[in-house]
Amino acid sequence: NATASSNFIKNIIKEDLASGKHDEIITRFPPEPNGYLHIGHAKSIVLNFELADEFGGKTNLRFDDTNPLKEDVEYVHSIKEDIEWLGYEWDGLHFASNYFNEMYSRAVLLIKKGLAYVEDLSQEEIRAYRGTLTEPGKESPARNRSVEENLDLFERMKNGEFQNGEKVLRAKIDMSSPNINLRDPVIYRISHTTHHNTGDKWCIYPMYSYAHPLEDAIEGVTHSICTLEFEDQRPLYNWFIEHCEMESVPKQIEFARLNLTNTVMSKRKLKLLVDDKIVDGWDDPRMPTISGLRRRGYTAEAIKQFCREIGVAKSDNTVDVRMLEHFVREDLKLTAPRTMSVLHPLKVVITNYPEDKTEWLDAEINPENEEMGTRKIPFSREIYIEQSDFMENPPKKYFRLFPGNEVRLKHAYFIKCNEVIKDDNGNVVELRCTYDPETKSGSGFTGRKVKGTLHWVEANNAKEAEFRLYDSLIKGEKEGDNFLDQVNPDSLTIAKGFVEPNMADAKPHDKFQFFRHGYFNVDPKESVENRLVFNLIVELKSSFRL
Ligand code: ATP
Ligand code: MG
Ligand code: MG
Repeated sequence: NATASSNFIKNIIKEDLASGKHDEIITRFPPEPNGYLHIGHAKSIVLNFELADEFGGKTNLRFDDTNPLKEDVEYVHSIKEDIEWLGYEWDGLHFASNYFNEMYSRAVLLIKKGLAYVEDLSQEEIRAYRGTLTEPGKESPARNRSVEENLDLFERMKNGEFQNGEKVLRAKIDMSSPNINLRDPVIYRISHTTHHNTGDKWCIYPMYSYAHPLEDAIEGVTHSICTLEFEDQRPLYNWFIEHCEMESVPKQIEFARLNLTNTVMSKRKLKLLVDDKIVDGWDDPRMPTISGLRRRGYTAEAIKQFCREIGVAKSDNTVDVRMLEHFVREDLKLTAPRTMSVLHPLKVVITNYPEDKTEWLDAEINPENEEMGTRKIPFSREIYIEQSDFMENPPKKYFRLFPGNEVRLKHAYFIKCNEVIKDDNGNVVELRCTYDPETKSGSGFTGRKVKGTLHWVEANNAKEAEFRLYDSLIKGEKEGDNFLDQVNPDSLTIAKGFVEPNMADAKPHDKFQFFRHGYFNVDPKESVENRLVFNLIVELKSSFRL
């Protein structure tokens, strides 16, 4: 059921297996190593790997590295790491740049067949000549060059005799096709740029629309799954497969890309956030990258389950980001230990509790999963509660602490507020309360009821901690051109407070549910010995329902 809703693709595969067109299917995930993977890529990864898995096939990881200007090995490493973290194993590991020789010779074949020519026009002129949807394209003077001249010029392009932009190689298809993609697309350009894999061997590089179908065919990919914007390119994809005489014939299938509310998912824009230092790198916990989500505390299982459930459609739509949050809550609810933390501390002195006494109370680790057992938490005369759990002049229906009111301390006792201590500026800095020993949690006390239950941390043994609270990085529903204006200046809030003493052993990536707050992850970069830093993964409740 992994890809339950990708039925239209499954049906194609089933037919192709049933008809004997293929004995085995091969899919691929083909990232360009020009940035880190994001949650949109996860959708494609889950789809490709799980489809192949379901039908006993294979999935290749192929780096689509045909544009040396933007590519880097840093990205190659991060992409591999992210796919492995998600839990997938690729069959073949390939680099499109390893096929440059073959791509070149297939281009020579096109020239020999009279199906490609060297163009002298500039990029702007080519664009103008290509016409519009309502206006047919115009043929370039270079279109009728002889095969011999084209072979000679193309070889000289390869040998570095021309500057960037001076010449390109174009496929000779149809300048009046209603599909503009078929109006003699450029298939090779000159770029005197060192490539991360091939170094300075090449100064001409194939264009994506030419390279991609060849890469698929060279690897024997049977089903080449891509996003909807490539639908118009499918005739071109098939044209290259046919006229380059590729032995293996892959089928391009398009599906809707993932869009998420309040989220940018273009690597170009994400890179801008990184380069402008608006975020702390590609793995900033606010980033929709796989590495950002991981650092934030998202689990691989939650991301995969989300990708499976959103399904695969044929038309674009936008998924509510709260759906992603729903899946991480679901995944953590039975496994994350419960603990108490105070993010904005207010000291409470329990005046009738003995000065030198500390008692250790039993607290369940996860009420939804009793097998996780219990933990010991200290209680004494001084504790911290949350500042927002006290109001001097509360409105009606405020059931937390206020002068004269009694509340329950989770796992401990009822306390009643008797006195409010303020500093010179009138800020509340301490509360004086009394506790009732009869009301101890677990004692079966039923004498009277209180409406509020507060979390707290005992002051002497508490561990200091930093809490990083996140709001969406981008405000507004739509991605606009001027998207830096949509960056939320309040996407990160840092709070300094306290956690239970047993948290001293917490390791990077340990995940907890902080009672009444939400799920938190120990930040793997910022958290070091004696300095605990927690990332808010997601708050506890959401109005969102599946
Ligand atoms: P971006 O615009 O973010 O740079 P891209 O499509 O250029 O994305 P690639 O590295 O080429 O990035 O993507 C690798 C694969 O991931 C492609 O097959 C692409 O279709 C798929 N992919 C990218 N973004 C999404 C998305 N938002 N939803 C689903 N699949 C996606
Ligand atoms: Mg791409
Ligand atoms: Mg891109």
